[in-house]
Parts: sequence; C-alpha cells; structure tokens
Amino acid sequence: MPAFAAVSATQIAAAVQATVPYMTDTLARFVAAQSLSGEEMPAARFVEDVLGELGLASERIVLRTDLLRDEPLFSPPCCADGGRYNVLAVHRPMRGGGRSVLFNGHLDVVPTGPAELWSSPPFRGELRDGWLFGRGAGDMKAGLVCAFAAYRALRLLGVQPAGVVGFNGVLEEENTGNGTLATVSALRQAVNAARLTAFDAVVIPEPTGEALVDAQLGVFWMYVDIIGKPAHAAYMSTGVSALEAGLRIIDALKALEREWNLPENRHPRYRDHDHPINFNVGQLHAGDWNSSVPSACTLGLRLACYPDMSINDAKQRVEACVRAARAALKRDDIRVEFRYEGFHAPGCEYDLDVPAMQRLADAHVRVTGAPAHRAALTATTDARHFRKMLDVPVTCYGPIARNIHGFDECVSVDSMVNVATVFAHFIADWCGVEPIPA
Ligand SMILES: [Zn+2]
Repeated sequence: MPAFAAVSATQIAAAVQATVPYMTDTLARFVAAQSLSGEEMPAARFVEDVLGELGLASERIVLRTDLLRDEPLFSPPCCADGGRYNVLAVHRPMRGGGRSVLFNGHLDVVPTGPAELWSSPPFRGELRDGWLFGRGAGDMKAGLVCAFAAYRALRLLGVQPAGVVGFNGVLEEENTGNGTLATVSALRQAVNAARLTAFDAVVIPEPTGEALVDAQLGVFWMYVDIIGKPAHAAYMSTGVSALEAGLRIIDALKALEREWNLPENRHPRYRDHDHPINFNVGQLHAGDWNSSVPSACTLGLRLACYPDMSINDAKQRVEACVRAARAALKRDDIRVEFRYEGFHAPGCEYDLDVPAMQRLADAHVRVTGAPAHRAALTATTDARHFRKMLDVPVTCYGPIARNIHGFDECVSVDSMVNVATVFAHFIADWCGVEPIPA
C-alpha cells in the first residue's frame, strides 16, 4: 500500500489526538444548534460553517417531496418541506486516482421529553467524565464530527485524500428518511449528468458502539384512529369508549409482536437478539373530559418487521390484526381508521465482505487491536437508500453512545477518538493520500 505509507499509524494517532479539543468543542456547538426533525436548519447552517472551516464549499440539496413521491423508498412526510435542505460538501483531490467515499449522517434529533429530568440542559453539550451529553450528541452528531476530525487530522499531517470524499448532513432521518432519499436522488441525477462520479463506498457514523452493521429491520409508522360513542359517565354503558377499544387493540398488537419474536419466526440474523421486533406505542391521545366516555382515541405506532418481509406486507398483517381486535369487541358503533405518516422503511442486509467494508474492518483492527463486532440493528438507518437505490457498499459504524432517545443522552469521547482514527486510516487506505497543494 504505497499511498498509505505516506502517513504512519503513529502520525495518524497523534494527529487525531491533537483534534480532541476540536471534536469536543465542535460537538458541543453542534448539539446547541437545536434540530428536531422538521426544524433542522440551525444544524444545517452549523455544518456549512464547519465544512467551510475545513476548506470545503457546501451545496444545498433542497427537500422537494413532490419530486420524491414515486420513489419506492419514499415515506409519507410528517411536516412541510418548508425550504429545508441537506448539506453536501465534496473534497476533490489534486492528483487524484484514489477511490471515493461518502460520509452521510443525519442532522435531526428526537424530542427531549421533560428537560428538568436531564442532569444538565439537553442542548447545552456538557462534557463530564469523558462523556459529552446532549440530545443528538450520540445520535448522531458525534459521528459526523468524527468524520470531520479524520479529514482535519490528515490535513494536519500535510496530506489530503487522493480520492473524492463527500460529507453529507441530512434531515428527517428520525421519521421518514426523505432527507437521504433527496441526496441519493440528486446524486443519481448528477452521476447521469456526468457531474459527479458515483461514490465507491458510503459510511454512516451512527452510534453503533464501534460495530459494523450487516442488517437492519424494516420500520414503519402507523396511526390508528378509533371513534367510539361518547356518553355521560353516569350512563357509561350507553356509550362505547374509544380509549378502552384502543387498549384492546394494543393488546392484540402486543400478541402479534410476541408471535413475530418467537424463535421459529425469526430471520437468521436476529436469532441471538433478546427481543428484535418492537411494536412501540409512542403516542396515545384520547378523551377530553373525566366525566365523559372518550369519543376518540389515536394510537401513534412504530412497528417493525424482518428484512425478508416487505413493508406493504407488514402493513397488511398489522391492519388485519387491528381489524380482528375491533371485530372481537362485537360493537358496530366503533370505527377504526388507519393513517400513514412517517417511516415506510424496508429492512436491509449489508455485505461486509466487499473490499470497501473489509478495509474499514481492517482499519478498526489496526486502531483497536481487535476485530469489530457485526451488528444486526433492531432499528432502521438511512443506509437502506444507498443499498437499495445505488447498490453501493455501505454500512453504519460509529462511536459508543448511551441513552439515545432517552434522558442524559451522551457519547464517549474516547470512542470518538477511536472512530475518528479509524476513519483517518480508512481514508488513507481506501482513497490514498496526496500532498496538500501549495
Ligand atoms: Zn440515528
């Protein structure tokens, strides 16, 4: 590997160590750039600035869901486009000749829950005992910062990638995936127009605990609207409670969840998991008065299926389950309707034995001294778009985080150093390096 010999492992390790203050400071400010799904623009502008400091000009890929609707991976949106955009910056080598890689990561974060239940304000980005706390710190602003730090560390050594390296911050990963869908759609058009070569590999630095992802579940969101018959509580039996009907429907869904988790019903990659299929009742809204039988109830559900079941098939099975639960109530005056907003995300398997992913695994061994674990995720990630739409080698690999989507979310700074070092090795090996032009 002559290109790789241009920088030694010792040099890379020292250069990444030197970027630790850069990483923690950048991540704290990134966390402070609040970016709930649908409101990602503070983080998008922040990333444009950070990339600018690295000498990279960003282009904006504006979300236009009207242009994405016919894509098989399109998810029904939860909020208006509103001019929101992804950020894409591309390093182009001087001499070139190396292979390319795209680092893709989402800018959006999930709600915090009651902020007073956090040990420190969720958007402060506080560093304590080697962990950086905040909503989005782990999932997944840290991962993007690791990619920036790897690029910066190589430049500190007087070299830059000899191949194209892309950095892509996207919106709406946490509820639809339409952000990365917009990126992939734009990349496909750019490749067709010969304005850009296709990327040879994609790495998504989600907080995988330094594991390489070889599968992910299908995930979809569904709303069940239940209409009952209101009545005065004094004559409760003359009404029908939509809330109690909703609870029976939840029971039925939990029975279906148990069935899909039975050992004999599992996809092979999920045999060793405790509980791979999770039907989460994320929201329940019902009723409006303590002395009235609730007339309406809405369930907000996140459902999952194995990679070998299509989302449409899974939706049909879940709808059939809800209809059967409704029929078992033996009441004609109960109405149940389904609505789909948010994830329509098929499951996916990723080949880690292709050269790009082997090089990433090699880099992990070189940095940590041990092979990386392979993980089958019980969640979805944007990797599906790259696999299913471009068929490019892709995986998720990122730092150790705790309490993602919970209180006191945090990421390990030591693990960020590991991941940034792995990325620097991977870039040097996969893309090669060349001197920074004078
Ligand atoms: Zn994430």
